[in-house]
Amino acid sequence: MRILITGAAGFLGSHLCDRLLSERHEVIGMDNFITGSPDNIAHLADNENFSFYKRDVSNYIFVPGKVDAILHFASPASPNPQSKSGYFNLPIQTMKAGALGTHNCLGIARREGSRFLLASTSEIYGDPEVHPQTESYPGNVDPIGERAVYDEAKRFAESLTMAYHRFHGVNTSIVRIFNTYGPRMDLEDGRALPNLLKQALLGQPLTVYGDGGQTRSFCYVDDLIDGIVKLLYSDEHYPVNIGNQDEMTILQFAEAINKITGNQAGITFMEDARSTRDPQRRQPDITRAREILKWEPKVSLEEGIKRTVPFFKQKLGLA
Ligand code: UDP
Repeated sequence: MRILITGAAGFLGSHLCDRLLSERHEVIGMDNFITGSPDNIAHLADNENFSFYKRDVSNYIFVPGKVDAILHFASPASPNPQSKSGYFNLPIQTMKAGALGTHNCLGIARREGSRFLLASTSEIYGDPEVHPQTESYPGNVDPIGERAVYDEAKRFAESLTMAYHRFHGVNTSIVRIFNTYGPRMDLEDGRALPNLLKQALLGQPLTVYGDGGQTRSFCYVDDLIDGIVKLLYSDEHYPVNIGNQDEMTILQFAEAINKITGNQAGITFMEDARSTRDPQRRQPDITRAREILKWEPKVSLEEGIKRTVPFFKQKLGLA
């Protein structure tokens, strides 16, 4: 296939490029580098099956030649208010990437008859009142809350995707991505894993926000990419959760990182650092992914963190 990936220089986008190139597809990457990094795709510069356009997907985009599939991954994604690359500090770009960017990609998919895959998110469930979250749960999002620019952009993107499917017959799919980690995460984007692993490798205390009782479940990137590629190759049109089910508190997560890295500096609780609307509990119900895609995650937290450490050490100048 000839596949367009927006957000190709991002954490997930760049792993998708690698995976789809390894499966002998031709990949066209697109990114404007507001949160992605050229470093993430530098190794693809000489790959004859890879081409790259520096573009803002929120503006009109043109890709010459046929396009068999489009994966729309372009968006800021970090909720951390302190981070320059988080969506708090890029609110309009975030809404445009989810709304106008999705519209532009769907326009190409309609013209070309492409398979379309939208990168959606567990954030569409907001601060969920049901647990674990099934795809049928409509979510609990405040449209003007602190996380709304991301949550509502992705919710709109899902609605638009289903409208193109139902009204224009476009072959669409939607993946709802839960917390994911691995090499090529932005060390400065303020999310839990980059913050805590960086602190651990530098021998510093880990900053746990609030009392650390809020839960997440963390999926290693290779597992997530497997699920996404299976969804791409399927003929499913309704949203599918992809994520790990091993739910833990952020305090347990921080303790695990200290143990795995041998960090002796302990934990600092930062009571006021938690953003309002930070979901209290999050865990995917992956029954649909198991049944439809025959997918489930395989990499344990310990193994995933060990595989992530070399990238962090290299970025920190410790390798
Ligand atoms: N968190 C933390 N310390 C940090 C960064 C994040 O305790 O240095 C917490 C944050 O408050 C949230 C959880 O870890 O409850 C996951 O945050 P992240 O930014 O990774 O993304 P989210 O899952 O909220 O989208």
